[in-house]
Amino acid sequence: MSALREAELLHAWERGAAAPPAARGARLLDAAEQATLAEVAHRAAAVYAETFSAAAEVLLTCRCGETLELSLDLATLAGPAPRPEERTVPGVDGDLTVRALRVGDLVASATAADPVTELLARTVTRAGLTAAPTTLAPAELEAVDDAARDLAGAAAITVRTTCPSCHDLLTAGVDVLALLWEAVDRRARTLLVQVVTLAAALGWSEADVLALTPQRRRAYLELVGA
Ligand SMILES: [Zn+2]
Repeated sequence: MSALREAELLHAWERGAAAPPAARGARLLDAAEQATLAEVAHRAAAVYAETFSAAAEVLLTCRCGETLELSLDLATLAGPAPRPEERTVPGVDGDLTVRALRVGDLVASATAADPVTELLARTVTRAGLTAAPTTLAPAELEAVDDAARDLAGAAAITVRTTCPSCHDLLTAGVDVLALLWEAVDRRARTLLVQVVTLAAALGWSEADVLALTPQRRRAYLELVGA
């Protein structure tokens, strides 16, 4: 899938809307449970770039209150970047293996009482056995976190910039899947308003309205005074 055509976009939007918030981006792409978040995020970047624009605007708020707008180049993130499936990190009581997060982990943890603990329990093992998150030392948790970020690739982007007001260095995590969901949600709601407007004025069906080119639809919307 590359660019989402309008009818597809509405189906994708329905799938996303029915999912828990953390899994909306993956669900709208209809990603398999076994797909890693890195793979899904690369796909999300490609779909965003081809459906909306090559760059996404990201808003950051500094501690001083200043709001900064950054442009995130999604076209470069969309390129192929195979990630390893797992990483080994040294542990206090033997090496820990950290497995890349998959869509299924995200969906399962979204409804857990403690999503972070659930994700750790699903992805961290020691000598082939689940390493209970409560038994991990702070240094181990830190190493696990670094490894998980590395494995997540495009799903865990950090942007850095300097605030023009207070000159503080700002860093923030950007979730490409959430950006895609927000853009699809906005576009879907605009489309629905157009469908309702033309259906009410002219008696057309949803399929009739979506079959129009955007130019022709705009012209009809102007004619009915929308
Ligand atoms: Zn500032």
